[in-house]
Amino acid sequence: MKAFVKYGKNPYEAGLCEIPAAEPGSEDVLLRVAGCGICGSDLHAYRASYGYEWVQPPVTLGHEFAGTIEAVGSAVSEFGAGDAVVVIGIQGCGICRYCRSGDTNRCYDRKVIGLDMNGGMATHAVVNRRHLIRLAQGIDPALAAIVEPLSVAVHGLSRVEVRPALKIVVTGPGPIGLLCAAVAARSGAEVLICGTSADEGARLPAARRLGFATVNTDQVALPEAVAGHCAGEPPDLWIEASGATAALEASIRLLGRGGNLLVVGMYAKEFTFFPSTAVRAELRFSFAYASTYRDYRMAIELLRTNAIDLRALAQFYPLDRAEEAFREAEAGRTLKPILVP
Ligand SMILES: [Zn+2]
Ligand SMILES: [Zn+2]
Repeated sequence: MKAFVKYGKNPYEAGLCEIPAAEPGSEDVLLRVAGCGICGSDLHAYRASYGYEWVQPPVTLGHEFAGTIEAVGSAVSEFGAGDAVVVIGIQGCGICRYCRSGDTNRCYDRKVIGLDMNGGMATHAVVNRRHLIRLAQGIDPALAAIVEPLSVAVHGLSRVEVRPALKIVVTGPGPIGLLCAAVAARSGAEVLICGTSADEGARLPAARRLGFATVNTDQVALPEAVAGHCAGEPPDLWIEASGATAALEASIRLLGRGGNLLVVGMYAKEFTFFPSTAVRAELRFSFAYASTYRDYRMAIELLRTNAIDLRALAQFYPLDRAEEAFREAEAGRTLKPILVP
């Protein structure tokens, strides 16, 4: 079968390969992949970025995928051939106290499909029954690849209080930032999406397609942009999805008193701040990582009810053009590329 494989440790040692057909064990299903998103972490693995040395080639990349079951192992009774399912990307051990409470994203033994083991950028994938969630009928399974990043946004927002008419600033207009904004906006929040000139290619236009106010902070300084957006009132909630420590620093300075900072970005360096600023303003800091079964369920419900215009975010590429899709993603010309086998 055909798969996009990270086959060597060095940067860009990855590409389409012919690999032996995947064989399901008794607890597994064999999935015909309908669509698999390219995530920032896939790009890091592709480029062999600092912090991704643990990815052991050869591995088929891809943790954001959905598809149709072709065959089930002998012990699987809850799924059958023809069922459409989404794969849960972060997989806990299933037995520790975090997993038993449903917080599989906090498991010390968690594994990521498509980085720790073969994933979904392939015609077929083998997935354990514990890491599947049924897709409601009538949903395009290729578009359902976006359920994974949507579940991450749902999880992030579950960590903060979202009231009607909140004033929200989002720094970092990538898929997670925009999906967080879209989930929050459903309760009538007023959202400003902040990006830079590098985001003008795909990300800020996508934010505008979703109906959000945007600002390019290379043209308007962040404090002025934030003040202008909220009519002089400081924001109640700041979602930091850029991974830039400068944005984190600005959020602490510019949030309104009693405001909430939700951090979903990943950072390449440390930063320091003056804690008394946060104390005097009674800021609340929330951090969120990945997602769990309950977030997937909510994300599928948002997809089923067309609550968010997810097609405004997705670009579909045939699996045969995976390398082109990776290059486009790397150059910032796509928002959420989805490979379709
Ligand atoms: Zn992802
Ligand atoms: Zn666990």
